[in-house]
Amino acid sequence: MTELKNYKMFIDGEWLDSDTDKTFETLNPENNKPWARVPEASASDVDKAVKAAHNAFEEEWSKLLPRDRAKFLRAIGNKLRENAELLGKIETIDTGKLFRETNKQAIYIAEYYDYYAGLADKVEGTVLPIDKPNIQAITTRIPIGVIAAIVPWNSQMFLTATKLAPALAMGNTVVIKSSELAPAVMFEFAKLIEETGIPKGVVNVITGFGDPCGKALTTHNLVEKVAFTGGPETARHIIRNSAENLSEVSLELGGKSPVAVFDDAKQENAINGITAGIFGASGQSCIAGSRLYLQKNIYSEFLDKLISRAEKIKIGAPMDPETEMGPLSNFKQLEVIEKNIKLTAEQGGKVRCGGERHPFSNEGYYFPPTIIECDNHNLPAAENELFGPVLSVMKFDDEEEVISKMNDNQYGLSSGVYTSDFAKGLRVSKAIRAGITFVNTYRLISPSAPFGGIKDSGYGKEAGLESIKDYTRVKTTWYYTSDEPTLDPFSMR
Ligand code: NAD
Repeated sequence: MTELKNYKMFIDGEWLDSDTDKTFETLNPENNKPWARVPEASASDVDKAVKAAHNAFEEEWSKLLPRDRAKFLRAIGNKLRENAELLGKIETIDTGKLFRETNKQAIYIAEYYDYYAGLADKVEGTVLPIDKPNIQAITTRIPIGVIAAIVPWNSQMFLTATKLAPALAMGNTVVIKSSELAPAVMFEFAKLIEETGIPKGVVNVITGFGDPCGKALTTHNLVEKVAFTGGPETARHIIRNSAENLSEVSLELGGKSPVAVFDDAKQENAINGITAGIFGASGQSCIAGSRLYLQKNIYSEFLDKLISRAEKIKIGAPMDPETEMGPLSNFKQLEVIEKNIKLTAEQGGKVRCGGERHPFSNEGYYFPPTIIECDNHNLPAAENELFGPVLSVMKFDDEEEVISKMNDNQYGLSSGVYTSDFAKGLRVSKAIRAGITFVNTYRLISPSAPFGGIKDSGYGKEAGLESIKDYTRVKTTWYYTSDEPTLDPFSMR
């Protein structure tokens, strides 16, 4: 048997095992075999990491000039570019995501660090038009303190960058808790952070389970903000935990994103966008376009074309550059998907392609592109977030009907509209209750584009100009400008 790779946690600039010596194995989704061993953070490891971040905040990081913090952000970006191949490989082994995506993403994610490095010295305060004589009052933006960044296993480099980059730029320090399902790439990332020479304790990387690690982190009294990406059930725990330390919480949660294709859409473009939206990353994306509404005149023809495109998708090893869909990241996910498909078929859903484990699944967690026709969108596959390559397809008559159907779901993260009619595209995109709408395209991200949802998809936007302010608090400072003593100490002026 090949030897497992061993990782350590990065706390206060040191590489540490858990103080309980507990470890767990992480599996390669391609073959269901353990390939690395990582320390499981205990409550006291969490305490060590948070205290290190707190000290670094108090002693050094919050006092650095913005332009000096920016230098470290740029250094992190450069390290990402230089080490993209290694990062991509490790993320692919640990999550089963395609190397052609993880490798490119590591390079692209560097842009987020550059973007927030650029913003570090551009967040300004104000001089207040105050209503009192002999007073000058100003506001400044000050850092919050220790940020707990909690990320899921998918797109960890991206979901870490959207938290870490603005947090560091504004003078906060960070404890990153990676997912127990695929923690390795975050430890590789920590090695690069160390190489930048950033002061000890400014960035700490740990991993572990919801309890004790996640719980200890989100209840810790020195944590001031929890930036969380993950599922809605975990979010409920985190909000309850935040009652202990009164920390601020931002939530990027799941989605069941609807896509509408009108009769007048450019069909080849729509098919490519839909394929990217639901079969890219094997559908394991929070913005996956998993509910498809087709207008009745094109319904059968378009669906046949989409099925034929889906059946051509090349399933294979995630490191192979020819592969278009790799395995799912974990076995539990495969079971959730199978259960939902079974229930949907029992309630009248018609599985038009896929629907059963791929033969490769004897070894790994492979599941083929699956398309299910549903008479109504309350069938389980059409209603629940499956986080897999499963597309539920429904028919609609007109604009009004499709808007109401698109909005009839608990989530509100992403959405898509395909039409050649510009005015209709504008009307429908405006009416959709979601944080993101793609018109005639899908699955794009950018450092300058705010990312996040409404309804049960969470609150707080990540990326973009505004989100940097989420890593600050406003401070008001009053200056008395007269040489005369103030009068009447017993009356508030
Ligand atoms: P998850 O909620 O199970 O886990 C997310 C993280 O929370 C992990 O690090 C986990 O260890 C941690 N955690 C679990 N219990 C905790 C607790 N009690 N206290 C603190 N932390 C705890 O999610 P997952 O299965 O890893 O990821 C899939 C989910 O993430 C999907 O719902 C997906 O839609 C969502 N997601 C959202 C976005 C977005 O930006 N909106 C992006 C990617 C993924």
